[in-house]
Amino acid sequence: MKLLIMGPPGAGKGTQAGKIVAEYQIPHISTGDMFRHAIKEGTALGKKAKKYLDQGLLVPDEVTNGIVRERLSKDDCTKGFLLDGYPRTVSQAVSLDEMLFDLSMKVDVVLNIAVSNTILFKRLTGRRICKTCGVTYHISFNPPKKEGVCDECGGELFQRKDDNAETVENRLAVYNNQTKPLLDYYSAKGNLYTIDGEQDIDEVFNEINQILGRLK
Ligand SMILES: [Zn+2]
Repeated sequence: MKLLIMGPPGAGKGTQAGKIVAEYQIPHISTGDMFRHAIKEGTALGKKAKKYLDQGLLVPDEVTNGIVRERLSKDDCTKGFLLDGYPRTVSQAVSLDEMLFDLSMKVDVVLNIAVSNTILFKRLTGRRICKTCGVTYHISFNPPKKEGVCDECGGELFQRKDDNAETVENRLAVYNNQTKPLLDYYSAKGNLYTIDGEQDIDEVFNEINQILGRLK
């Protein structure tokens, strides 16, 4: 079961990724997590990546591809994996196909969690987080009992800087522009499945299970 998961910020991709890897017992390969880990461990690729990230630059494809190739070559990936946050561009998708070909594997299913921009905008701009314990609230969908105060610990709630209206609009536009060609790429290959991410968390997961159930 070799899977990719895609979805805009606020689509609940992280939640679904967690459920998928628990249910199907496959490694969760998140490039964001891997960069943080490689940098901490001080590996050669980690050192390379750090050089770019420290300057506020995007990590070049050759470095990202290298880190993914290294991870996919490990034994625990032979039965399957869930790639999250990669590929981000068609060029990375082509590289992924090449490295999987070398490993005698291929992507079985691309899960695309789709949510309309209007809903994403509401979800992201209404998000509030507890400064003390990190619990997340939403001013309309999951409000705390007392405005601005955490139910769990009484801590103060705040809004992440990148959850303000202007930044959210920009984040969504960037995502849509970047992802459209990638969706076209997988759609042409016939393994793209778009899931309605506006449903409840459990309903979304149920839909994913139905798609993956057909694979077995
Ligand atoms: Zn709290």
